[in-house]
Amino acid sequence: MQLNATYADGLSADSEDLKVIFSAHGILFPSGKAWSYGGTQLVAKVKKTGKIVFRHDDFQNARLSVYVPEAQWQAFLDYLRHQHPRLIGRVNSDSMRWQSIIAVSIVVTLAAIYFLYPHANRILVSLMPTSWAETAGEMVIDHMYGGLNRGQQCAKAEGQALLDRWADELAPEGTPYDIKVRVARTSEINAFAAPGGQIVILKGLIDKADGPDEVAGVLAHEIGHAYHKHPMQGLVSALGLGIISQIFGGDAGTVATLVLSSSYSRDAERQADQTALDILYDQGISAEGFIEFFRKIKDLQGKYADSELFQIVASHPLTSERIEHVEDHIHDKETDKGLTFKASATDEEWQALKNICD
Ligand SMILES: [Zn+2]
Repeated sequence: MQLNATYADGLSADSEDLKVIFSAHGILFPSGKAWSYGGTQLVAKVKKTGKIVFRHDDFQNARLSVYVPEAQWQAFLDYLRHQHPRLIGRVNSDSMRWQSIIAVSIVVTLAAIYFLYPHANRILVSLMPTSWAETAGEMVIDHMYGGLNRGQQCAKAEGQALLDRWADELAPEGTPYDIKVRVARTSEINAFAAPGGQIVILKGLIDKADGPDEVAGVLAHEIGHAYHKHPMQGLVSALGLGIISQIFGGDAGTVATLVLSSSYSRDAERQADQTALDILYDQGISAEGFIEFFRKIKDLQGKYADSELFQIVASHPLTSERIEHVEDHIHDKETDKGLTFKASATDEEWQALKNICD
């Protein structure tokens, strides 16, 4: 069976589109190399988009994503199950039984930590490998927009260039992930950080902004969430310890629903705001745009309270206290100091971002 696929070696940021063949001898690549079924494991599957992600013992960092047409989904899974029980993670050998006993012990230990210490999820998340957050983030994003890679992403090169530049320049030292910013084609006004440093800006937010500084400010706030690993912490709190089985079981629907329905705590919002201010001042960008955007949203909030356009308020609770805090900060840093700031983007870059979906 031949399938469209993307292959990322996990060592560089690039990924390669290719076709692979699932044969009786394993997964065959166009280069002639093959992944044996015995060493291959399914990492995640998302039925809605037909995407299945595999890893192989010999290439620890690499991920192979294949795209299975909907009509063949079940037959393909049955096929995998017949090739090797390990492929889709069925527990039926002795060694697998031991692995599951060990896994249960780990979960019980984590559960004990989780309930004994109130801030344990922060500790748990700090111990998790980066690749877990990246996998969870991919699953969330795939589920939400039917795969940003497949038509829902706006990525005209000139507009994307500004986002890539911002991702590079705004991410402070010590950011745990490579920040990746994408735009989704929807009129909702929102932006969110999925686990693993993946940030999605919904096009409605760009349409509502009066200049690049407003979008850069919101982006700095999202990078603040990524910097503090809030998305993964949110996921862990929302799911409790179920996260572990969710990630291994690959049920993206539940994960995505929880991410969408949960909002950050006041503390997390304050932390992200503070990091956003630090980022902006580090880059010599005024925070006026940042606060202006939140004022604008707050003004409109009453008018469209129930509209789904205002998701941003739901996922990043916007309190007067938050706005006051940022205003105070701006007053201390900017007002009467005679400081000059640079624009976060040129007029051309801003126009290109506004046209990123065209
Ligand atoms: Zn927020």
